[in-house]
Amino acid sequence: MTLRLFNTLTRQVEDFAPLAPPAVTLYTCGPTVWNYAHIGNFRTFVFEDVLRRYLEYSGYRVTHVMNLTDVDDRTIAAANQAGVPLAAHTAPFVEAFFADRDYLRLEPATHYPRATTHIPHMVALVERLLERGVAYKGDDGSVYFAIEKFPAYGRLSRVERRDLKAGARVSSDEYAKEDARDFVLWKAAKPEDERAGAAWDAPFGRGRPGWHLECSAMSQHYLGRTLDIHAGGVDLIFPHHEDEIAQSEAATGQPFVRLWLHGEFLLVDDTKMSKRYGNFVTVRDLRDDGRDPTALRALLCSTHYRKQLNFTRDALEAAAAGASRLGGLRDRLARAQGQGAAAEGGALAQLADALEREFRAALDDDLDAPRALAALMNFVRDANRALDAGGAGRDELSRALAAFERTAAVLQVVPSAAAVGRIEAPTAPAREAVRLGPPEPGEDLGAWARRMAEARARARGRRDWQAADAARRLLAEHGFEVRDTKDGAVELRPVTTKTRPA
Ligand SMILES: [Zn+2]
Repeated sequence: MTLRLFNTLTRQVEDFAPLAPPAVTLYTCGPTVWNYAHIGNFRTFVFEDVLRRYLEYSGYRVTHVMNLTDVDDRTIAAANQAGVPLAAHTAPFVEAFFADRDYLRLEPATHYPRATTHIPHMVALVERLLERGVAYKGDDGSVYFAIEKFPAYGRLSRVERRDLKAGARVSSDEYAKEDARDFVLWKAAKPEDERAGAAWDAPFGRGRPGWHLECSAMSQHYLGRTLDIHAGGVDLIFPHHEDEIAQSEAATGQPFVRLWLHGEFLLVDDTKMSKRYGNFVTVRDLRDDGRDPTALRALLCSTHYRKQLNFTRDALEAAAAGASRLGGLRDRLARAQGQGAAAEGGALAQLADALEREFRAALDDDLDAPRALAALMNFVRDANRALDAGGAGRDELSRALAAFERTAAVLQVVPSAAAVGRIEAPTAPAREAVRLGPPEPGEDLGAWARRMAEARARARGRRDWQAADAARRLLAEHGFEVRDTKDGAVELRPVTTKTRPA
């Protein structure tokens, strides 16, 4: 089997064949850092993360670029509303995005170019488009792309050519398909741009880049003229990606992207997520709720990336329970390593081979993550049965653990050992005072929980029941349960029901 993926450009599932294997160039549109990214954005980022991790699992070497849009209509409006310069407004949201990325176990991209640090590349691209006669300066001082000069315009989004209003202009970053017309490359500076520090000198006039231009300039700078894969959410097909194609191909004369991948929307309680409906969920809401990130990852992996996904608290609970079972098996396999018999048992080895086979078949088939997740859950059931039966050999135990960890690492759906595991009770009562308190902003929740559980164990050791109870309460508030076992050890695990007081 080879990897097959659905190409939005051809509306067909195609064999994946990069230009220069094993190298793969991947460009994904990143967040606009005007506010916190919501879990709808992160659904796309997780789908792209699974794609990238699976490419790497399959032996490809991926160069991944994700841009940060730190200048566009929305960032400038938000900065002006807050009364601060653009850079001061966006900086904390860039930091927040990286914290959310780490919490959600998104593999860091190779490069995170910011639009404001690549203005010269954008100016050069506009100059090239002016030279080639596909761009012109409007009477408002802005530079526009003439869509009638690019016959392939509309191929990705399937805009009807007869609906195009060539010569008519649109200067906002976002607009509907019915408004397909000459779009803005470079916007002449307005007083509000100057106020936010969002204006730059250029040979064709002082101004700032349009949103679409940013991705064309930065992808070419980092990855070359033709990319293997460009991915994003379905809402970016028009106008953003359509305009990226026009700018890039009109400038270089080369195909811009070989494979376009788009992830579907995420709904919250069956409604499209928005602040207006009050169902706007951010990743930090979940982190502050004490959620292990694997719950959300398992939930997102349970629906194919090309289908709409409905986010509900119940679905999150179910996904958390599944992730917890995966963690339970990983720990059981790890504990059994030292106890295996010298002889080969056989059953576990067969299960491990079947897992990898089925896992690959699922993801090779247009990244069928729900089927891959089901393969992992089936392995949990069957491997637990095999372990119950006893007599597993040492070699097959390590093979089973390796196969499980290799496949689960692609989806990142197994809670960290710190969150599901045993804390050894200290041998001597420790005297040092440990500050008991909620996790610091950005602190790894699993690591924090382990620290609190250790502090509780030490408090019990010195018979400080008040401190021990305080630690237990804190853990419960953040979704962890501690239990003392008969052999003197302490078990720490995430609880699957919400225990945080309202
Ligand atoms: Zn983009």
